Amino acid sequence: MALIVQKFGGTSVANVGRIEAVADRLLACHERGDQLVVVVSAMSGETNRLIELAHSIQSTPDPREFDVLVSTGEQVTIALLCMALIKRGCAARSYTGAQVRILTDNAYNKARIQEIDGGALLSDLDAGRIVVVAGFQGMDVDGNITTLGRGGSDTTAVALAAALGADECQIFTDVDGVYTTDPRVVNGARRLDRITFEEMLEMASLGSKVLQIRAVEFAGKYNVPLRVLSSFEDGPGTLITREEPDQMEAPTIAGIAFNRDEAKLTIVGVPDTPGVAYQILGPIGEANVEVDVIVQNVGADGTTDFTFTVHRNEMAKAEAILQRIAAELGARQVISDDRICKVSLVGVGMRSHAGVAAKMFKALAESNINIQMITTSEIKISVVIAEKFIELAVRSLHSAFDLDEPVSGDARG
Ligand code: ASP
Ligand code: MG
Repeated sequence: MALIVQKFGGTSVANVGRIEAVADRLLACHERGDQLVVVVSAMSGETNRLIELAHSIQSTPDPREFDVLVSTGEQVTIALLCMALIKRGCAARSYTGAQVRILTDNAYNKARIQEIDGGALLSDLDAGRIVVVAGFQGMDVDGNITTLGRGGSDTTAVALAAALGADECQIFTDVDGVYTTDPRVVNGARRLDRITFEEMLEMASLGSKVLQIRAVEFAGKYNVPLRVLSSFEDGPGTLITREEPDQMEAPTIAGIAFNRDEAKLTIVGVPDTPGVAYQILGPIGEANVEVDVIVQNVGADGTTDFTFTVHRNEMAKAEAILQRIAAELGARQVISDDRICKVSLVGVGMRSHAGVAAKMFKALAESNINIQMITTSEIKISVVIAEKFIELAVRSLHSAFDLDEPVSGDARG
């Protein structure tokens, strides 16, 4: 008997018919003897609809009330799914995040899980029930409803799997696994049999929208075996695991991630003196704006330019802060650009292969794409380019790194 956490995303519970199909699938697993904790998202489009409603009243919605509102989507799905299970003669019980006691910090809209009390769920499981938990939500110590950020149901699932000591956490979605890149952009993209937590983290953080980044972090930290599967067809999916010793022989590149969600901000002509980066990014961090790529040029005339990227939604907020800092520092100008994107090569094999960056830049040069920013880590090389080149860049790189065809002896399949 295995304890499995299964998570179904918005498209898997998009309408009553699909909710009934999920119930059939759960029933089959339950009858095989598995203990099931099910995490669901809101029906697809529902969270967006709620966000629009909020914005139709307040351009910057009150954060506490925003979470009270957007958490309702998941509450609808847990109840409907339980009804579908009960109709099938299967004992089931739904829980909101607060009812489970998924304790988070109080950072509304992007709360972090601090503690989960699995007690009630475990006694339900022992009583033979299927437990259905609302994803994406929790509560702070004062009982306020919090949400975990877009895509947060994945994190709920992994955190529950870790807290309950589940055998596997299965994320059912509308794709049948993790691909070398988005198949909607590259026809020849192929499913990976497995990928390491580290690579998946880069793929997720860089914009492969299969899994929320925090969920992968959680899974890596607690070593929760994580599997991405299709809720529409049977198949092995992609297993996300620790790096194995033979990984050195794996292909250099696992995949190509890209992200259209960023905006670039430059503060021009800041003094080239100690403390300036802190003076710029300190207030940005205090405003809870996450910074991604950072580039500072070498100082020439005693001043330098400082450029970084943030989420597009936070560009206006960051720009306002930068204008204030620019005045304080006597900087010449603040420039912002939200028509950029980031494209990244990801692969643990990069550690042991030279020349990957050169090959990447050659492919981009041959497609006549200008690189605006470059950043690297041990297992990733990212470039910021104009958004209009995103598809061209991803396609060129996918073929330059031979990702279209299976490589012989490819351990990833
Ligand atoms: N419903 C939330 C969202 O759309 C959480 C999730 O789907 O994981 O972001
Ligand atoms: Mg999702």
